[in-house]
Amino acid sequence: MDMHPDILQEFHEIYSEFISGKAVVRTLSTLKQLREDSVYWVEGTIIGVERNKEFCYLACRICGKKVEQAADRKWCWRCQAFTFTNIFRYTVEITVADESDTAKMTLWNRATQKLLGEPAEDVISRYGDTARVMPDDIVEEILEKEGLFEVVICTQRSYDDVFDVSRLTIDEEIKDVYIMRNYPPAYESSSEDNSSQSTMDYAEEQDRVV
Ligand SMILES: [Zn+2]
Repeated sequence: MDMHPDILQEFHEIYSEFISGKAVVRTLSTLKQLREDSVYWVEGTIIGVERNKEFCYLACRICGKKVEQAADRKWCWRCQAFTFTNIFRYTVEITVADESDTAKMTLWNRATQKLLGEPAEDVISRYGDTARVMPDDIVEEILEKEGLFEVVICTQRSYDDVFDVSRLTIDEEIKDVYIMRNYPPAYESSSEDNSSQSTMDYAEEQDRVV
């Protein structure tokens, strides 16, 4: 497996959070009603991609903020400087469904790159930077993807606000851990204390595989 070191590290972080039970999964209908500063995970499927918004923006290479056109140059407000090299970064609004509800979510650069397996720069260089409307085959690639989405909740949230996705994973290994913890196999659920035991067995098995 040839994973970028950052992505590999994030994989291990998320994996251990699911193994230890630190990662908490909630349904969308529950999360829409929460008013607190916290993060939760949602298990869902991407059922829609917003096509009326640009899917990427030109950003300052130093700080990652969107740059503005200033005459024939680009200006970064955060760096308070003209920027000479810029980079495209993703910002994609999706609709996610779980068994309880649907919700809009914003995928930022890192999450989208993980989902598509390529940086926004590559998409732009393939399709050109004039429209910045997501090409059909990229939409196709995102639709129907199933995964776990970590979303940010805050006290000022309104019911239909778009969730920010802080991390996501579509890794089968992590999904398996989540399923194992939440839906232990029937033959092991006869006594009450078995779910944590089965997770430990599973963790040991994973160690052996790795
Ligand atoms: Zn900057």
